[in-house]
Amino acid sequence: TVGAVAVDGEKDLAAATSTGGLTNKMAGRVGDSPLIGAGTYAKNSTVAASATGQGEVFIRGAATATISDLMEFEGEDVASAAYEVLIKRLPKLGGDGGVIALDRHGTFDAPHSSEGMLTGYLTRDGKFVTRIFSDESPPNT
Ligand code: ASP
Repeated sequence: TVGAVAVDGEKDLAAATSTGGLTNKMAGRVGDSPLIGAGTYAKNSTVAASATGQGEVFIRGAATATISDLMEFEGEDVASAAYEVLIKRLPKLGGDGGVIALDRHGTFDAPHSSEGMLTGYLTRDGKFVTRIFSDESPPNT
């Protein structure tokens, strides 16, 4: 999966997710990536989010929409909402994975229950930084 989240100068948020799906997937399977609210979601007042992992679990958990709901209705910030869904809830549904999540202020987080997740981001001064493991939280850029 390749996912991207972005915020522009007007504070509009956008998210995109592309994937070849899971290895040895059933013919005709539709994963979470193209399903808004599962693997991909963007709403200006909350979050732009793109997920990777076992798609069925992200669909069942409405993962990215739930991150947005936690922010909108429970007042959580982007990092705690993404952590709640990826680390606390999805493993209970039987799957693991990760998400990149960005709010309109440029606060970014990338929690994952998988062993590692390659994450890259562009800093305000135009530097592109990549990390293989995002256990170390990226700075807010
Ligand atoms: N989430 C994708 C899917 O289930 C797989 C992936 O993350 O690579 O289709």
